[in-house]
Amino acid sequence: MKEVKSLTSYETFDATKLKLVLEKIASRASECEHDPEGPKVEFQWLNECGALAAVLPGGEMDFNKSHTGQLLKLLKDIGKANLSVGRIFEGHINALYLIHLFAEQEQREKWYTEVRDFGYLFGVWNTQTNDGILFTENERFLKIEGSKTFCSGATLVDRALITGNISLLHRTGWQMAIIDMKQIDRSKIDRESWKTLGMKASGSYKVDFSGYEIYEEELLSIPGFYLRQPYFSGGAIRFAAVQLGGAEAIATHTLAYLKNLDRTSDPIQQLRISNMMAQLVSGRMWLDRAATHYDTWANSAAEDEALIAFANMTRVSIEDICLKIMEESNRCVGARGLMHPYPLERIFRDLSFYLRQPAPDATRLKVAEFFINNNSAFNE
Ligand SMILES: Cc1cc2nc3c(=O)[nH]c(=O)nc-3n(C[C@H](O)[C@H](O)[C@H](O)COP(=O)(O)OP(=O)(O)OC[C@H]3O[C@@H](n4cnc5c(N)ncnc54)[C@H](O)[C@@H]3O)c2cc1C
Repeated sequence: MKEVKSLTSYETFDATKLKLVLEKIASRASECEHDPEGPKVEFQWLNECGALAAVLPGGEMDFNKSHTGQLLKLLKDIGKANLSVGRIFEGHINALYLIHLFAEQEQREKWYTEVRDFGYLFGVWNTQTNDGILFTENERFLKIEGSKTFCSGATLVDRALITGNISLLHRTGWQMAIIDMKQIDRSKIDRESWKTLGMKASGSYKVDFSGYEIYEEELLSIPGFYLRQPYFSGGAIRFAAVQLGGAEAIATHTLAYLKNLDRTSDPIQQLRISNMMAQLVSGRMWLDRAATHYDTWANSAAEDEALIAFANMTRVSIEDICLKIMEESNRCVGARGLMHPYPLERIFRDLSFYLRQPAPDATRLKVAEFFINNNSAFNE
């Protein structure tokens, strides 16, 4: 177990402390990219201001209440400070949401306590290649064979929600399990597997879980529930929020750069600033509306399709918005603005890479299909 940091490492979510934490995260982002420990201290800070436990029962953004707007803003703000930290934090929130939705009461209490009392960090690792996860029977219960790729925060996460194929008499399909990363030898984390354009600090390495012996209480829910709708597709609004945070950082740094060089009175720069800010504000509006719909529809099965379509539109619109903001900013600041020590070169690399999320084309086709079948939808 991690050492308990003080009386308890969990503190009530504190927005003022969070603001200071975000400033510290942003100012360490460049150093963090080259830190072999990754954003370790960043997650200690986030824990200390209550952000890791904010979605637990009684917390500021308790999943049992309707706080999606606040949660998306938190994700956006953390993404703005450092996209890699935002990605790992989003994985933590995604894991806690799956626990909230699908865990047994006893499991929930155990995992929530670990976050509250020990500041445990969770992650969700679903992506794999052809050596993916199999849960096979052994004398005691089950054993894991195989690896996951793109494991964000691989060296930092305490509890990893992984998915894999199971084929038992009463359990067949795509099963979730929450495993103890302390049981995974560090040599199983392939640090050579993350040589990327950006998001280096997310340390999304390949992890080999082969040989891990699993207990029954580590299995989460029944096969197939990881992909359960509307939660699976609806969750895209959370990574879209982190991405928009990156675009917001680009817009902020671009304006600061132009002001610094006294280039804001030029009408062509003004035109680009106008385009960039209009894109940013429309991204915020997508998130606001997506949050309202999520809170209204997530528990009413009748609106599942609308919720998914709106989340899909939010996701692809924010992808487009981020690309447009990068294009405008690129022309605003030119080569000099895209050089170290200005932060834009890193944020451009991070955002370009982080925008690559699964099935972008298929997502757009699903939006089209929804409107073909519901042509007056969202005509409020
Ligand atoms: C920074 C970062 C962190 C991540 N962290 C995690 C994590 O913690 N956990 C996790 O589970 N995953 C994680 N992922 C993985 C992520 O969820 C996606 O699996 C990954 O980003 C897929 O990206 P891709 O562009 O390689 O996908 P691809 O599916 O290869 O898509 C690339 C392009 O090909 C198109 N395409 C897809 N299939 C076909 C086809 N059959 N024929 C023709 N075209 C096709 C797509 O539409 C797209 O245009 C992370 C990804 C990133 C970038």
